[in-house]
Amino acid sequence: MKKRILITGGAGFLGSHLCERLLAEENEVICADNLFTGRKQNIAHLMSNPNFEFIRHDITDPIHVEVDQIYNLACPASPPHYQHNAIKTIKTSVMGAINVLGLARRLQARVFQASTSEIYGDPEVHPQPETYWGHVNTIGPRSCYDEGKRVAETLFFDYHRQNGVDIRVVRIFNTYGPRMLPDDGRVVSNFIVQALKGNDITIYGDGTQTRSFCFVDDLISGFIKLMETDNFTGPVNIGNPGEFTILELAELVLAKVGGKSKIVFRPLPADDPKQRQPDITLAKTRLGWEPKIPLSEGLDRTIAYFAQLLAGPEAKQPRPMKAPLKKVTFN
Ligand code: NAD
Ligand code: UDP
Repeated sequence: MKKRILITGGAGFLGSHLCERLLAEENEVICADNLFTGRKQNIAHLMSNPNFEFIRHDITDPIHVEVDQIYNLACPASPPHYQHNAIKTIKTSVMGAINVLGLARRLQARVFQASTSEIYGDPEVHPQPETYWGHVNTIGPRSCYDEGKRVAETLFFDYHRQNGVDIRVVRIFNTYGPRMLPDDGRVVSNFIVQALKGNDITIYGDGTQTRSFCFVDDLISGFIKLMETDNFTGPVNIGNPGEFTILELAELVLAKVGGKSKIVFRPLPADDPKQRQPDITLAKTRLGWEPKIPLSEGLDRTIAYFAQLLAGPEAKQPRPMKAPLKKVTFN
């Protein structure tokens, strides 16, 4: 049945793919975004769709719309972006959660939280099942994001227990694909853009730390399956269990792109997790979901996207990271 759906952070990397998919399924979509790391270009192709509406809105302020479902994705996800204004990041997670939960309570709407594998911090249990409580620094440079997301999960479960709000919580592991920003700062986009430009590939630390990379299309299928499943709140891990060292990723990207880039080593940022791999048993059993797109295929599709982007007019007017971010109003 056709639904009216609010997506906060809908102009970002994941949000824009979610808008697209839900519109293709004949829903009405309202995308609310303050365009901090999102871009109008990500949703430009949806603007002429009568079922789509964009509202420039900061989720730290309450939002008043009438919808059947809410997906809460608003929050910068890349470490350089979320550390750019740490206080704003934690406000976005905490006040954003309170605002969408209040709206869901009033509307009796199902509400989805984009939580994260950062809930597990630098994990001592490997791979990470949902039952693991995590190993997180409360006062480090990543804490604004990690602890903000942990409080958001707490708020979701408190609104569920106390007010009967119909919640869905997904813990997303590193996801990549088209529409990541070329200056996003996350590892897959960094390595691809560096390789395409013939620049050095920057490995932080010695490259032995691991991550498990999920292609965006697989992730979005998992989101929708969770949202359409009754009597299951999560939290549930959604990610691709294929685990790679960062050095392996660099070598794979280099082999695919070719060119003259060299691998160089830079200092490891503070609190950088040493390993990450989702245990997806719960997603398989409760949602019948598992990823289908292996890293090699997903990288090919992402490389093709960035190659086209860098050849186009955007490349001649690169978006410098610092300047536009400083223009954003922070409270
Ligand atoms: P992104 O930075 O591309 O998207 C975030 C979107 O939220 C952007 O459009 C941004 O403008 C918007 N936003 C930020 N602060 C806002 C605010 N105060 N009010 C309104 N909009 C705001 O990142 P993404 O990768 O698309 O991540 C989307 C969500 O998924 C985030 O909540 C992130 O924490 C979560 N997540 C992503 C990953 C991943 O690997 N991509 C992993 C774990 C969790
Ligand atoms: N990383 C790297 N070079 C880069 C960007 C990131 O070696 O240019 C490393 C980073 O230190 C981390 C891993 O790649 O160990 C994943 O980083 P990302 O920021 O993508 O995600 P997160 O650390 O939040 O999982």
